[in-house]
Amino acid sequence: MGDIEERVYLSSPHMGGKEILYVREAFDTNWVAPLGPHVEAFERECAAYAGVKSALALSSGTAAAQLASVLLGIGRGSVFFCSSLTFIASLAPIVQAGAVPIFIDSEPESWNMSPTALRAAFEDAGAEGARPAAVVIVNLYGQSCDMDELIPICESRGVPVIEDAAESMGSLYRGRRTGSFGYFGFYSFNGNKIITTSGGGMLLSDDEESIDRARFLSTQARDRAPWYQHSELGYNFRLSNVLAGIGRAQLELLERRIGERRAVYERYREALSGTPGVEFMPEPDWSRTNRWLTTLTIDPSVTGVTNLDIIAALAKRNIESRPVWKPMHLQPVFERARYYRHGDDDVSARLFENGLCLPSGSNLTKSDQDRVIETLSGILR
Ligand SMILES: *Cc1c(COP(=O)(O)O)cnc(C)c1O
Repeated sequence: MGDIEERVYLSSPHMGGKEILYVREAFDTNWVAPLGPHVEAFERECAAYAGVKSALALSSGTAAAQLASVLLGIGRGSVFFCSSLTFIASLAPIVQAGAVPIFIDSEPESWNMSPTALRAAFEDAGAEGARPAAVVIVNLYGQSCDMDELIPICESRGVPVIEDAAESMGSLYRGRRTGSFGYFGFYSFNGNKIITTSGGGMLLSDDEESIDRARFLSTQARDRAPWYQHSELGYNFRLSNVLAGIGRAQLELLERRIGERRAVYERYREALSGTPGVEFMPEPDWSRTNRWLTTLTIDPSVTGVTNLDIIAALAKRNIESRPVWKPMHLQPVFERARYYRHGDDDVSARLFENGLCLPSGSNLTKSDQDRVIETLSGILR
């Protein structure tokens, strides 16, 4: 190999061109502040997009998760259930507030929270008289959870759901947009997500009063008074008007980006689907995933190579790829946490062991993708 090939990223920002116009508008009107017309418009547009009554633009998805848990009163002395197969931000702020997580396995059909495991966790909690304060469900890699199974389990026990839709903006469950299923839902606009503001998040809910209260808390909890007066402590979590401008232009492109990511997946699938030992993340008939990342599992007893071998081979050609999220129940920081498997099977552990995320950006060129496919075909032959 001669020259070093250009880096192929897992998921990089993809601007459309109009972002800069909205940013310029913010500058021209001097709304360079954590509030302003772009923020308000972006909130309205995201609420309408998700199909919820109210939305609050924030500095990150993590901040949204934190506010949701604060509003639900989760803290010291609380227990909550959470998908084990996720990114730490789904729960880190809730644990930092003193609440104790109990982890729930995935089901093989969607890679998301297993209703079987969730039911088992609720049965034990009921027997011990310890009701969880919330259930955090995560739509992983863009795929919706099986809402009709999970939500009634929680609702029938009066336990609110926080829906982490950070990776699944624009994905559908039975035709309805993800982010709208929990009591609170949230999106992330981090640089690697399907649309980005460089960094940001959106808290969603049909409960307008809760969103108003979240707005109050996220702007330092200032009382209505002529001076700075505080009856409680808040946060500084708002999204800047400049970044909201980027977000508005990105939102206009979202449907196109979903189409592009799905096309990336489709090309990988066509190239590799006949390969023994390779299985892509399934898409149940109730799901329409945005394919934020194309993910698959490798069975080394069939392919003769592991997911880490493949990651190393791709890295040699300057291609970024990753294992699937390491489940929370296997994280050193949660060594002592309780965990409910999917029956006898530890699905999330298996997905981590064999899972692989391929470069999936909507801005991948055909030749980028050919290089990934060539490398994979070479090593999987
Ligand atoms: C990205 C992500 C978050 C956090 O969002 P930030 O905007 O980066 O704080 C939370 N949960 C999941 C599953 C994510 O992928």
